[in-house]
This record gives sequence, structure tokens and C-alpha cells, in this order.
Amino acid sequence: MKILISSCLLGEDVRYDGANSSIVYNPSLSFSQKELFMDILCENEIYSFCPEVSGGLSIPRVPSEIISSKKPFIVKDKEDKDVTINFLLGAKNALDLCKKEGIKVALLKSKSPSCGNKNIYDGTFSGKIIEGQGLTAKLLIENGIETFNENELEELLTFINKK
Ligand code: SF4
Repeated sequence: MKILISSCLLGEDVRYDGANSSIVYNPSLSFSQKELFMDILCENEIYSFCPEVSGGLSIPRVPSEIISSKKPFIVKDKEDKDVTINFLLGAKNALDLCKKEGIKVALLKSKSPSCGNKNIYDGTFSGKIIEGQGLTAKLLIENGIETFNENELEELLTFINKK
């Protein structure tokens, strides 16, 4: 199965701080979860994608949060620069790739203002988490693409096995 995966989860240094969020080296995930992830990587066709880089943002970059998660969306970085257009472009590019390649499922980094599929930071840069979706996750979900995060690997495997 074709799976879109947040590049940072694959160990690519694309995060705002120039680091990654590698699942393999994540100390809060168990060995069996990491094994499961490796199985998923080996047995499926993986498309690595970082919406923020695709949307024109640099590495490293000032971290951003969603200020308004309803239309018109507003995303600003911590220095108050409006980066909404970069986030919207990254989301559109992710959806375009899924449509072009027939990708129906995505494994996305949790809590990111682009990739978070269940929770995001609340827009105050205080570390507070709220329910909500990053702009890429939201657009993918609205277009029928199943999304999972790095804490939902078992659920992703169940989805893959049902297909
Ligand atoms: S935009 Fe997504 S893929 Fe890129 S660094 Fe943030 S969480 Fe990772």
C-alpha cells in the first residue's frame, strides 16, 4: 500500500529546529512499536513528505502555531510573522501528491500545526495542547485520506491489513 509519511518521522532533519522526530529513535515508543514501524516501512510503498518545507519554509525556521483553525486560517510564527500561505501551500502540495499517486493513507507527526491529526498547540506558544488538526492533516482528512500519528501504529497496521 502507498503511505504518505511525515518526513521528520522517517528521520529527516526537516523540523523547525533542524532536527527530526525519528520513530526509530523515539525514547517514548516501545521496541515492539518500533519493530511494527519497520515492518510497515518494509512492506509498503513510502512517500516521505514535509508540508512546511514543501510550502517554502526554511530549515531551520521559527516555530509556528495555528492562531485561527477556522476559515480564514491564520498561522503565525513565534515572531508574529504570518506564514499562513506557506502552510496552505504545503497542505495543497500534500493533497496533490496523494491524488497523483493514489495514496489513501498517511502517517503524520502528532501535534504539528501542519501534520497533527488529532491535537495541535493552542496558538499561544505556551506548550498547551488542544484538540484540532494541522492544516495538512485537515485537508487530507476532508478529502477522504485516512490519517494516523506515531502513537497509532497498531491502528495503521489494522487499516493496512483490512485493505
Ligand atoms: S511539517 Fe510535518 S513533516 Fe515537516 S517537520 Fe513538521 S511535522 Fe515533520
